[in-house]
Amino acid sequence: MSEEIRNCTIIGSGPAGYTAAIYAARAGLKPLLYTGKEPGGQLMITTEVENYPGYPDGRTGPEMMEDFKKQAERFDTEIVGEMITKVDFSGPVHILTSETGTEIKTHTTIISTGASAKWLGLESEKRLMNVGVSACAVCDGFFFRGQDVAVVGAGDTAAEEATYLAKLCPNVHMLVRRDEMRASKIMQKRVLNTSNITVHWNTETVEVLGKEGVEGVKVINNKTQKESVIDVTGFFVAIGHKPNTQIFDGWLDMDDAGYLITKPDSTKTKVDGVFASGDAQDNVYRQAVTAAGTGCMAALDAERYLAAKEII
Ligand code: NDP
Repeated sequence: MSEEIRNCTIIGSGPAGYTAAIYAARAGLKPLLYTGKEPGGQLMITTEVENYPGYPDGRTGPEMMEDFKKQAERFDTEIVGEMITKVDFSGPVHILTSETGTEIKTHTTIISTGASAKWLGLESEKRLMNVGVSACAVCDGFFFRGQDVAVVGAGDTAAEEATYLAKLCPNVHMLVRRDEMRASKIMQKRVLNTSNITVHWNTETVEVLGKEGVEGVKVINNKTQKESVIDVTGFFVAIGHKPNTQIFDGWLDMDDAGYLITKPDSTKTKVDGVFASGDAQDNVYRQAVTAAGTGCMAALDAERYLAAKEII
């Protein structure tokens, strides 16, 4: 193990991680950033990003993350393209272990490991990703205005996505696998009271149809076993997200779904010097701009922590 103790190590390379790096680097902390196995995070599977302020003409998700990375590097962030697979938060100096066995000692750790959208696991869903298949209506819905779309899922996210899309699309088909929704009563009411949303109960997706883009979805009614095709050009999967927080199990407080719990109005976790930002601790807003905001907060919290301990 290297004897050097880093001031600040950031785990994750989405908008939260890179923003934390920009702030930490400009504060002179010389941050070390481990990108994880999906460098750039969820924006790497997004096409055009049009709702991030400062990009009036939009930017693709991967281009935007390249911009974030360049900005972090410009201010002296050391970036390592590996995953952190183990943490030890038992002492004031944290010990992080990478996938290749490198051990990093650090005074502060900023967690920006994000969340991953859950997918149905169909071959056609994977093949048509970004050309009609999406996991984010707020990100991609605009590209489907004037077109008919389907939303899979029956939780609050699916209900929210369906009502959002109903403002842009003539017909929204919601595919619900049971005969009831999991979403909160108010969200269900909103869905059922929106005239251009059709709820297909007991309905599962067999296949997303299309070669270059989505041309329809083949579904099956799991009560009658009757198959049918719904004509749509957009297919939104909203069956939940999974925060990438498994390695912190036992060290940090999490909610039932695994989202990290931070102290009110801060990014502090229950462990001194460990800060959580981005989608790993936010299951409500989940936007690039909100993740960047909490990444900034985490870097400021880390800097203040180091100053209070007279480490910097
Ligand atoms: P949830 O886990 O609550 O719901 C997932 C939904 O997807 C369920 O209806 C589930 O069906 C369905 N589903 C899962 N797998 C499949 C599959 N293979 N095929 C078809 N359907 C499937 O996730 P959400 O993202 O909706 O919500 C996560 C949390 O975030 C919740 O606590 C929610 O309340 C909260 N949230 C709050 C919001 C708000 O307050 N504005 C907005 C968005 C989320 P089944 O019901 O049959 O299991």
